[in-house]
Parts: sequence; C-alpha cells; structure tokens
Amino acid sequence: MRAVLLGPPGAGKGTQAVKLVEKYRIPQISTGDIFRKNIKEETELGKKVQEYTTSGRLVPDELVVDLVKDRLQQEDCKNGYLLDGFPRTISQAEQLDEYLKERGEQLDAVINFEVGHDTLMERLTGRRICKVCGAGYHVKNIPPRVEGVCDKCGGELEQRKDDTAETAEKRIAVYEESTAPLIDYYAKNGALKNFNAEKDHSIVFEEIIAALGE
Ligand code: AMP
Repeated sequence: MRAVLLGPPGAGKGTQAVKLVEKYRIPQISTGDIFRKNIKEETELGKKVQEYTTSGRLVPDELVVDLVKDRLQQEDCKNGYLLDGFPRTISQAEQLDEYLKERGEQLDAVINFEVGHDTLMERLTGRRICKVCGAGYHVKNIPPRVEGVCDKCGGELEQRKDDTAETAEKRIAVYEESTAPLIDYYAKNGALKNFNAEKDHSIVFEEIIAALGE
C-alpha cells in the first residue's frame, strides 16, 4: 500500500497514521516529524527549517523533496508507505510522481481529510504531545488519564510551538493556498478518496479501511 494522507493541519492525519501503520504494516513518513526531530537534535537541516516550522510557513520544496526520496529508498518502504504531510505543494506532488514513474510505482490512494475551520482550530490548540514517545492527546477529545502525563510512557505532555492560535491560523491559511490545490490534482489521477474527518477518529478509521480494503 502506497498512500498519501492529505488534509489541513489538525485534520487527524497523525492519529489515523498510527492506526493505519499498525493495520497495513507499512512505515509512516511524516515530514513534520522528521523536521521536529532534526530541530531537537540541532542538525544542519534542523537549523535550516526551524524558522519556517515555528512560524507556520512551508519549508522550501528543495529541502523537502530529496529528503523524502532518500527515505523512500530505505528497505522498510519496499512494500509500501504512508506519506503524512507530504506532498504539500503542486511542485512536490509533481516531483513525487516523477520519482514513482522512474521506479514503475504508483500511489494506491490519496486519503483526503475534510474538516471545517472551527474544528481544526479547536483540535490544534487543544493538542498535546508526549515529549518522550511522541504520543498524541487532546485536552478535551483524547485526554490522558492524568493531566499532563502520557498514558503510554509517563512522559510529560507539551504543546507544539506551532499549535498556538496565531500560528495555527497561519498554517490553515497556508494549507488553503498551497496544499488544497492538490485535491484537484489527485482527483484527476483517480487516486483521491474523500473522508469526512469531523467524525470520531475511530469511525474515520473504519471508513478508511473499508475504502482501502484489507
Ligand atoms: P506537520 O507536522 O505536518 O504539521 O508539519 C509541521 C511543519 O513542518 C509545517 O508547518 C511546515 O513548516 C513543515 N513541513 C512539514 N511537511 C512539509 C512539506 N511537505 N513541505 C513544506 N513544509 C513542510
């Protein structure tokens, strides 16, 4: 299964990715996670992308595409992968298509999450992430058993720097301008599958696997 998760920030892509990875036994490739890891480890790439990610702007295509191509060549991607947060521009999508063509591969599905603005803002500003294991929570919708503490590993929960109301608004606007055009792009090549992601995450998951098949 080669699939792309497409949708605005806060649509639930990461939440579904965790479940889909387990079900289909393929790796999740999240460009946002890769960037955050590099920023934390203060690598060269981390230094280059930090300013973009914290302000909610997109990292330039040339810093993203080669990174993803390298990752797709690793052994664990042989039988498929789940791209989460990539592509985010038409140019990234075209370069991904080119890469897939060279390898004689194609995307099986582009899973498009449809969610309204107010829900996105509520989800983004309430989101909390475990500092240690990266597990995701929401202060109201997916609360941990003990406030501020990860159920899975006991780590401290924190808010992503770009989940403040101001940066979240910016990221949604950037999505509308640069990423939403990919919906038409993938509708044309036939891989697009739309899901109402306002629904509870377990229902969305059932609907996705019903559409993708076993
Ligand atoms: P995410 O975790 O997917 O919300 O991504 C966090 C941030 O990383 C975004 O707001 C961008 O600054 C950057 N980013 C992640 N993926 C991409 C991409 N495919 N193209 C450009 N910037 C990206």
